[in-house]
Amino acid sequence: MIQVDIEKFLQELEVLVNMDSGFDNPEGITAVGKYLADRLTAMGWIAEQVDVGDKTGKCTVVKNREAEHYDVMLVGHVDTVFPSGETAKRPFRRDERRAYGLGTEDMKQGDLAIVHILEQLPAEVNEKLNIIVIFNPDEETGSVYSAPLIDEYARNTDYAYVFEAASGDGSRVIQRKGMYSATVVFHGRAGHAGYLFDGGMVSAINELIYWGSELNGLLSFERGTSVNIGVI
Ligand SMILES: [Zn+2]
Repeated sequence: MIQVDIEKFLQELEVLVNMDSGFDNPEGITAVGKYLADRLTAMGWIAEQVDVGDKTGKCTVVKNREAEHYDVMLVGHVDTVFPSGETAKRPFRRDERRAYGLGTEDMKQGDLAIVHILEQLPAEVNEKLNIIVIFNPDEETGSVYSAPLIDEYARNTDYAYVFEAASGDGSRVIQRKGMYSATVVFHGRAGHAGYLFDGGMVSAINELIYWGSELNGLLSFERGTSVNIGVI
């Protein structure tokens, strides 16, 4: 049973959250990965920050030993959806019930949980299992640059646990649905709003509203289909 000192955990979470690591901040992303890796190398683990291109930070890989095959992979991402500089405007804060701040839930608490779990890992488990940890630098933008590296290790690993926050009720998430996103462009035909209705005027706005309504109609809790209309 792993026990976490919640006060200590929150203090460390504050440090992590206040390190700006927005998707557009490669240095910040690499720094968060290093902070986490340092905690694990302090107990003798091997860490490496792999260059996956200059569009994102380094991908941080930590292992309890070099191995051909890993039993367990623990995964967390260190980037957030917020642009550089936003963390300074909205730093970490907390009240009696909650902790707030950019990336607090998604997912620096998960990254920190990985560290705390491994720090308390019983020696015999550490001895028995080959464990690899990956701190993904670009999950929020689709893991485009880190995916080949993660895939390579995942192919040689039996079990993987991603430490993203679970559902609202705290239950473990064992599958994710697929996703599709599309951009729809509407064109109208100009006309006078008062007297040209018969002259071939077509409202792009009305068409957009129609599509919006139809798309929202696809929402189905039964099938697990969610629909989200984003930027207009
Ligand atoms: Zn996330």
